[in-house]
Amino acid sequence: MKYTLDTIPVLDAYKTECECPLCKLRIHCEDQYIDSMLSSAYMEPDYRLKTNETGFCTRHFELMYNRRNRLGLALMTHTHMQEVIKSLEGILGGESGAKRGFLSSLRGGGKTAADSQPQKIRARMDGCFICDQMKNSIERYAYTIAQLYFTHTEFRGMFDNSKGFCLPHLALVLEMAEKTLNASQAEQFAKVVSRVELENLRRVEGELEWFTLKFDYRNDSKPWGNSRDAVERSINKLMGACVGAEAEMPAHND
Ligand SMILES: [Zn+2]
Ligand SMILES: [Zn+2]
Repeated sequence: MKYTLDTIPVLDAYKTECECPLCKLRIHCEDQYIDSMLSSAYMEPDYRLKTNETGFCTRHFELMYNRRNRLGLALMTHTHMQEVIKSLEGILGGESGAKRGFLSSLRGGGKTAADSQPQKIRARMDGCFICDQMKNSIERYAYTIAQLYFTHTEFRGMFDNSKGFCLPHLALVLEMAEKTLNASQAEQFAKVVSRVELENLRRVEGELEWFTLKFDYRNDSKPWGNSRDAVERSINKLMGACVGAEAEMPAHND
C-alpha cells in the first residue's frame, strides 16, 4: 500500500498536551466520520452499499445514536438490517440450518467450526464501516510521524520531547516505521521511540503510584502533583484513550 503524508494534523496534535497524539487524531477523525455519516454520506449510494454490507461496531452505533439525526441513523440501520436478514435466511434457513446441524452432529461431524451457525452469525456481524475508514487514516498519520522524524527538524524536536504513545499506537508506529523506512532509519527511529516510550510509561506509573499513596492519611497534606487524573491517563496509556478527558468526543448540538 502506498501511503501519503498528512503533515498539518500531525504537527497540531504534537502541539497539544496529551499522552498519545495518535489517540488525539483518532478521536478527531472519528468525530468527523460520525459527522459525515449522519450529514450526507448515508444518502450516497456507494457509501450506503458499504454500510448495508458491513454495518457498524457497538461504539460507532452508540456515537451515532448520541447525535440528533435519528432519521439518518434509522435509514442506514434499516437497509443494513435488510441485508443482515438476507444473510440470516441463508445461515438459519433450509438445508444449511439447524436440521442439517443436528443430523451432522448425529453422524459425528464433517462440519468445521467455521461452518457452524454461531460462527457464521459472528462472522456476519464482524466489521464496522467507520472502524475500517479510521484504520486507513490512523495508519497514514503513523506513517507521517515516521517520515517527518527524518525530514522535519522542528517535528523531530517535538517528538524527542513528546510523551510517547498508548501501547496499541506504539505497536502501530513501530510497524509503519519498519514497513516504510529504510533499515537504518527504522532502527534509529525504533531506538528513539523506545526511549521516549519507556521514560513516559515510568512517569505515568509513578504518577499512578502517588495517586494510590495519596489515600494514606500521612500524605493528606502533601501536594497531588500531576496525579489527580493518573488513573485515567494510565488506562489510556495502556489501552488507547477510552476514559476521562482524553477520550471525550467534541460537544455537538446537531
Ligand atoms: Zn493512542
Ligand atoms: Zn467501529
